[in-house]
Amino acid sequence: MDLPRFRQYLGLMKAECTHLDQVRAVEPRTPEGCEECLKTGGRWVHLRLCLTCGHVGCCDQSPGKHATKHFHSTRHPPIRSLQPGEDWGWCYLDEVFIEPAPSTSSGKS
Ligand SMILES: [Zn+2]
Ligand SMILES: [Zn+2]
Ligand SMILES: [Zn+2]
Repeated sequence: MDLPRFRQYLGLMKAECTHLDQVRAVEPRTPEGCEECLKTGGRWVHLRLCLTCGHVGCCDQSPGKHATKHFHSTRHPPIRSLQPGEDWGWCYLDEVFIEPAPSTSSGKS
């Protein structure tokens, strides 16, 4: 088991995200939908918001899986659901749910 996988394993054991310091007071860059799908005319199922840069991507049930692709290209681990009424986040590195979603309001320093 290499070190990244071992750390992921520890993250699963602890079931908490260690990257909340990367959560910024972001606004969705494309609040109308997935950034890549809007460009390509693709369809999405659910939307995910990158909590580090404000990128909006689609979920893994969507054909584009742009939220996951965004993580792989940027290594921004924490995201949250952008679905109305859903208040949870997800960390790609720790592979844990964050409930309720980390606050992105500028009131949090
Ligand atoms: Zn994390
Ligand atoms: Zn998409
Ligand atoms: Zn990002």
